[in-house]
Amino acid sequence: MDVIRPFDPWKSKLCTCPQKYSFNPYTGCQYNCLYCYSTYIPNFKNLRIKKNLFKRVVKDLEKIPKNALISMSNSSDPYPIVEKKYGITRKCLEIFKEYDIRLLVVTKGDVTRDIDLLSNLKSAVSITITCDTKIAKILEPNAPEPSIRIEVIKKLKDAGIPTILRLDPIIPFVNENALWIIEKCEPDHVVTSTLKLRWDSFKRIISAFPFLEKKYRELYIKNGEKIQNYFYLPKNYRTKLLSKVKEKCEELGLSYAFCREGVNFKAKSCDGSHLIN
Ligand code: SF4
Repeated sequence: MDVIRPFDPWKSKLCTCPQKYSFNPYTGCQYNCLYCYSTYIPNFKNLRIKKNLFKRVVKDLEKIPKNALISMSNSSDPYPIVEKKYGITRKCLEIFKEYDIRLLVVTKGDVTRDIDLLSNLKSAVSITITCDTKIAKILEPNAPEPSIRIEVIKKLKDAGIPTILRLDPIIPFVNENALWIIEKCEPDHVVTSTLKLRWDSFKRIISAFPFLEKKYRELYIKNGEKIQNYFYLPKNYRTKLLSKVKEKCEELGLSYAFCREGVNFKAKSCDGSHLIN
């Protein structure tokens, strides 16, 4: 496999994802989120277009089983600013239409321009929203405003496309109270997780929020858990933050799950792919 590859999140023992493939139409991302987990990719801020992408996509699609789940994208956003101009993701959707696959779109971008294609695919869309506009300007400086993303969820729902809200990550002392987003969107499923830190994201976050340095050194580095290459919050702290999302979802009758937390949930899948028929 070349551009559509089996999903393997660093062989994380905490990953509860169903078997799926991962596909990134672009390499790198323009949104520059401070907490981004993909900055291990060299030159990540410099978005690149893959050579001969469409031919490579077709070649890989010929090899994967019928009804396979493809997650687009896990390490770069499929709707970067330039997608409007290049339409690379759109062209990939046109190709996907010719194959029997299930597609999970994961984005912060405005996917509504492709509703016509998504409606004709077995698909669901997961939109990441973490905070209000004021905080987003710092946390996710180049991504579409949270209010736009909320509208995107509404338009997808109106078009009958299953929606997932990715309230992820929950960042201690920054967006712990972002439960209002769940009420605003009322998606079909909510997936959430707490911020995991690597040294590069730690530096980016404390440079934007200097008051966090002491707290994070205490919470993550001194008292947290080191799982593979990530510093996690102490488990009781993570459970406390996740419980707030759980309670809000239960109050609204929404299905919910946690991503790589080692905390149980009842939903049929963590990523919301169970919604795709
Ligand atoms: S949108 Fe996703 S891939 Fe892009 S910078 Fe933000 S977290 Fe990273």
